[in-house]
Amino acid sequence: MGLSGLEIYKLLPKTNCKECGFPTCLAFAMQIAAKKIALDKCPYVSAEAKVKLESASRPPINLVTVGTGEAKLQIGNETVMFRHEETFYHPTGIGFLVEDTLSESDLDKKLDAIEKLKFERVGQKINPDLVAVAGSSKKKDNFVKAAKKASEKTSLNLVLISEDAALLRAALEATKDKKPLLYAANKDNFDAVVSLAREFSVPVAIRASSLDELSELAQKAASSGISEAVLDPGSPSLRKRIEDLTYIRRMALKKSFRPFGYPTISFTQSADPFEEAGEAASLIAKYSGIVIVKSVESFLVMPLLTVRQNIYTDPQKPLQVEPNVYEIGSVTKDSPILVTTNFSLTYYTVESEVEASKVPSYIISIDSEGMSVLTAWAADKFTPEKIAAALKQYSMGDRVNKKELVIPGYVAVMSGKLEDESGWKVNVGPREASAIPSYLKNARR
Ligand code: SF4
Repeated sequence: MGLSGLEIYKLLPKTNCKECGFPTCLAFAMQIAAKKIALDKCPYVSAEAKVKLESASRPPINLVTVGTGEAKLQIGNETVMFRHEETFYHPTGIGFLVEDTLSESDLDKKLDAIEKLKFERVGQKINPDLVAVAGSSKKKDNFVKAAKKASEKTSLNLVLISEDAALLRAALEATKDKKPLLYAANKDNFDAVVSLAREFSVPVAIRASSLDELSELAQKAASSGISEAVLDPGSPSLRKRIEDLTYIRRMALKKSFRPFGYPTISFTQSADPFEEAGEAASLIAKYSGIVIVKSVESFLVMPLLTVRQNIYTDPQKPLQVEPNVYEIGSVTKDSPILVTTNFSLTYYTVESEVEASKVPSYIISIDSEGMSVLTAWAADKFTPEKIAAALKQYSMGDRVNKKELVIPGYVAVMSGKLEDESGWKVNVGPREASAIPSYLKNARR
């Protein structure tokens, strides 16, 4: 964890000489704590203090980048055990295992299916990040061919899987522009695989059969100049893996144990696709930096992406849409007006049901600081005054023939006050968004 301004101040010379551009050492310390200025602006910091300050300013879990360009995956750099303490920053990378033993047509089919796994949810684009090509055939030509295909046929980042450094080198030479993750260095191939990662400047996974062995190998990798490592504790069961991943994270964050200061990678084991989805969801929650799955069915992948999206949304800043009036379909002066909050999940649920109804409508999203209907109402963020003001702000009176609006059924209690406040007739809509299509269709009769 970072040091406070006061802790940093204690390590400074305290002469207030102003050479750093600040009037006092304390002012300089506060700027360092806020990460607004570099330590080297003070020429008088002792070597001993420098070591302490520099190691304190290093992230407890290194940031690791797989791939290049906009689609690159960044994992690690997390600072808390629990999301509610702050937030989680770098979402788990989700990838698919593709073996080089597949026939050419099956390989094409699988890669095409993977490339299609792109979704939009609550206004955000969500998609997987990786294709993990396994050199299961142990044949160089097959492995290189599969790796090249995965690189060319998908926009995703690559993981190259083999214990044989010569095979990894061959596939890496063919795909090095994608900056793939090498999986994995272990106690038997350690020097060869780690020097490959160094030579090509790519991240490398370290796999061990126990936490002690993992810590030794990670330390060895760090002393050979590797900073972008991903850890695999080789846990034999899901239960043991969750324990190990939790332990690794706790040691990195709470004990500043540097050998475990890296993100992690896990592979699902279950043969049943539904169990596999549950396994992957548990690994996303606790605390795998990368999860590689076998199934590519969209009905299993979409829930995983949703779980990840929810876990990695800042709890202090719920997903929000811009407060505004939205036209759904070709609205006319007879179109209904629905009012809801600007919490993304609420807004997009209402929007999709209005679309499903095929009744062109206006939806006004009220600025409720991203809260859902009942929460916003209870917190005084979704009030008759706000709704009346929005009707005026968006000149809704000029857009429709009848001054009528529909409010969510959960806040029926505000209808009287809203009518007084706005002068509009208030209709109470359904409580659940799923009832909106039938409500809108019946209201038109
Ligand atoms: Fe203090 Fe160093 Fe700044 Fe001088 S240069 S005021 S010693 S922090």
